[in-house]
Amino acid sequence: MHIGLPKEIKVKENRVALTPGGVASLVRQGHTVTVERGAGVGSGLPDSEYQQAGAALGSAAEAWAADMVMKVKEPIASEYGYLRPGLLLFTYLHLAADRPLTDALLQSGTTGVAYETVQLPDGSLPLLTPMSEVAGRLSVQAGAYHLQKPVGGRGVLLGGVPGVQAGNVTILGGGVVGTNAAKMAMGLGAKVTILDVSQRRLAYLDDVFFGRLTTMMSSEANIRALLPDTDLLIGGVLIPGAKAPHLVTRDMLSLMPEGSVIVDVAVDQGGCVETIHATTHDDPTYVIDGVVHYGVANMPGAVPRTSTFALTNQTLPYALKLAARGLDALKDDAALRLGLNTHAGKLTYAGVGEAFGLPS
Ligand code: NAD
Repeated sequence: MHIGLPKEIKVKENRVALTPGGVASLVRQGHTVTVERGAGVGSGLPDSEYQQAGAALGSAAEAWAADMVMKVKEPIASEYGYLRPGLLLFTYLHLAADRPLTDALLQSGTTGVAYETVQLPDGSLPLLTPMSEVAGRLSVQAGAYHLQKPVGGRGVLLGGVPGVQAGNVTILGGGVVGTNAAKMAMGLGAKVTILDVSQRRLAYLDDVFFGRLTTMMSSEANIRALLPDTDLLIGGVLIPGAKAPHLVTRDMLSLMPEGSVIVDVAVDQGGCVETIHATTHDDPTYVIDGVVHYGVANMPGAVPRTSTFALTNQTLPYALKLAARGLDALKDDAALRLGLNTHAGKLTYAGVGEAFGLPS
């Protein structure tokens, strides 16, 4: 199969769909890969590395002319012209939030396989997990930085020093984001409390961290009790397919110390803090009631190199299957089958149909 890797053209997107190592795996299996010139530069991956991996370099049009196009972000309007019948597009699509793209895929007859809806039998989302891992780990780095006085924070060093107590980190949600945030915060020496509504999840966290963090059932009373001593609050709650619940309401904000920091990673689902709104890497924070709010909606974009490698690790096995067998690969891979969102002008994912009142 001929596989194309266009350069991402969405503003500030520096990731690329595959590393040179990923390209080499496809080439070894007999496939042809065209990489748009400069596609990997934002991730520190020069064209020469792709050539050494066996790819041909080309223009955007040449990359898009492939049988299967792999990307990171959903196509934006200026890319809709490349969509066509028979094209297999494998990327993040997030169609339920994007009617124009849904229409463009349907009208063009493009087959769209979305990373975010590939789902394993245990309900986990293997192609979303790496970005949650990145965002969870980054949330502590971002929070620790914004706790510094010169950038408006409380002036607390999360790890403390001998003779001075460490900072308190409260994490809402003990899933992928929360667990990775906990690891980083504990690594810095902070005191960590993690809250979830799942007793099983709390038991798991207690087991794996061997009691080195505090687990608590997520309830309004417990959150209210923790806020006055919280230096850094991290939001990592997810209710699949729904907006995040506002676990910290506007009136609860005043319970937090002046200069404390909120990093609400769940901002892309509306956030679990009522006062959060989406911000950008250029201007990541704002202050309400003396509390610093960080709401960057595409946190992995800050570390494109790590994110590109993490994404390739997870997408490559599916890409190899699709390249080898085309859509037949969906027949015996139930997880990949759930990734199919559009095909031959039809919606094939119920969640997107429900979002727009369209048949699927
Ligand atoms: P996950 O499903 O692994 O974990 C979510 C956890 O929230 C689960 O353990 C669940 O039991 C828990 N939960 C549900 N309701 C709760 C409640 N009321 N109180 C406490 N916990 C509750 O999800 P994840 O992969 O960790 O993702 C978390 C969020 O981060 C999602 O909204 C995701 O889209 C977002 N995210 C954002 C970025 C970014 O750049 N901002 C990047 C990656 C992921």
